[in-house]
Amino acid sequence: MIFGERRCCIFVVMLKYGVSVLICSLVFGTVAAQWRFEGDSTPRWEQVIARYAEFDRTRAGAELIEIGKDDDGSPIHLFVLSDGSGFSPDSIRAAGKNILWITNGIHPGEPDGIDASLLLAQALLDSDQLMGLLTNTAVCIVPVYNVSGAKQRSSTSRANQNGPAEYGFRGNARNLDLNRDFIKADSHNTRTLIAALTAWDPDVYFETHVSNGADHQYVMELLTTHPDKLDPALRQFMEERLVPRQYDWMRQRGLLMCPYFETLQHVPEEGLTGFVDGPRYSTGYNALRQRIGILSETHMLKPYADRVNATLQLMLGTLACMNEHPQELKKARTEARSNAMNVTLHATNWSIDTSRVEALDWKGYATEQVQSEVTGLPRLRYDRNKPTVVKVPWMNSAGYGSQVQRPAAYLIPAAWKEVIDRLRLDAVPMEVLTQERTGRVEVQRILDHADARSPFEGHYLHSKITTASEWETWVMQPGDVLVPMGHATDALVMEILEPRCADSFFAWGFFDSILQQKEWFSDYVFEDIAADLLKKDPALKATFDAERANDPAFAKDAWAQLYFIYRHSAYFEPGYRRYPVLRVMD
Ligand SMILES: [Zn+2]
Repeated sequence: MIFGERRCCIFVVMLKYGVSVLICSLVFGTVAAQWRFEGDSTPRWEQVIARYAEFDRTRAGAELIEIGKDDDGSPIHLFVLSDGSGFSPDSIRAAGKNILWITNGIHPGEPDGIDASLLLAQALLDSDQLMGLLTNTAVCIVPVYNVSGAKQRSSTSRANQNGPAEYGFRGNARNLDLNRDFIKADSHNTRTLIAALTAWDPDVYFETHVSNGADHQYVMELLTTHPDKLDPALRQFMEERLVPRQYDWMRQRGLLMCPYFETLQHVPEEGLTGFVDGPRYSTGYNALRQRIGILSETHMLKPYADRVNATLQLMLGTLACMNEHPQELKKARTEARSNAMNVTLHATNWSIDTSRVEALDWKGYATEQVQSEVTGLPRLRYDRNKPTVVKVPWMNSAGYGSQVQRPAAYLIPAAWKEVIDRLRLDAVPMEVLTQERTGRVEVQRILDHADARSPFEGHYLHSKITTASEWETWVMQPGDVLVPMGHATDALVMEILEPRCADSFFAWGFFDSILQQKEWFSDYVFEDIAADLLKKDPALKATFDAERANDPAFAKDAWAQLYFIYRHSAYFEPGYRRYPVLRVMD
């Protein structure tokens, strides 16, 4: 029992770095423990790191390390809280502990978790009772992940957010949104984080945010890895242990929490949908590594201090649950890894099924349409003097868009280094061939795809990708990389390598060079060759004649007819639209 002893102590810690006054009051007994943040300011990155460095210097249970670099060259830190089990992944695992990983400041305009984590660290280090939460768990905190974003301070980039007075910017030094970067890994930040996650392999990944969207009474919106696409063993732990404990913990402290949602139309009463976290997002990515993903999304209109305190309590509730059920969590992860090695049909391209509607209890505010002072047109207004308790339509079932049959292995030609490097970040088992090897492979040709009209996170994303398969006997070359399946990373590998997956490297444009034809013909020269080809190939002639008969426009287009013959001849380049990563079938 963590809060069994009746004791009361008040700490007022004047942080030397500034206006923020951290008031921590710890009350045990009949009153729930409270470590409270007050004020409306958040420290600068340098101040945050200085504070953790001080913990590192002065406390036995803490260590601050550098794990890599931001795109601007700034160091990214990790603060490890571990009660007597050392400060390396090996020593912590050897002590039988699980790991809770907290990433703050991925969107530095949403700094709630930066302050909540400072308070969490202080609370755990100052209180023997709270340190008990680390009996079965170590906590790894990334104090500020998007350091270059955190350095771009202003008071204005979050137009609708209620504090703090000044904060960082969403994009990093390359203007990348790091919570869309978990597959393509364009940024140093992402490469740093994925390598660190691979080394530490946390059991629960917790990331801190502030939500936009509709107004309501809840201070916290809880976003989890979507359960429908999570491994069944992890889903059971998440739905039966973790999420109920988080809701209980918040309820006991008078903090209202609802699931993270998007409004289907204009106001919640018209329906809310859940969110499917694709692989580009942290929770979607972590689910592919058999980790439960949690996002705290405090509500933008609530005062900053209330949001920080709610974030802290959600962290403590998560930690409490992990500490109470360590063996169950271990077992669920072991089972999930074993399941992942044996999944032969991988479901992908998930989306919310809006035809499946449930009722969600909802604490909102009355809404009205009034005339806009700006446009003269109707505008929406929430009336905070009229809280409502209603049921709203809730759509949170997800379905997959397609399934991928797992091959025996993938063969990545040596030339495609970016994708090989990306797989290495996750320590995907692979073999670099040292001599020629012949194998039966499935080749995918890109039939069609849609292109985005404007860039998204530095890429013109492809969507609606269709492929056709053909089988070949293929000679693999020394230096090519063979990625054998049958590992816990299979699902991640398929999401990256299968071109039809929405976050595949093909979809992000890394294979765009195969979409361009390199060689052409001069029509006056090719006329004679084409005539000769038709004479020698009756089957080609029959197809050509049928096309002319069926398509009047084609029959009138001399160039199109020559190109048709060119495309069906040995002159046409074999690599055009041929996806270079091969599926090895045996
Ligand atoms: Zn965010």
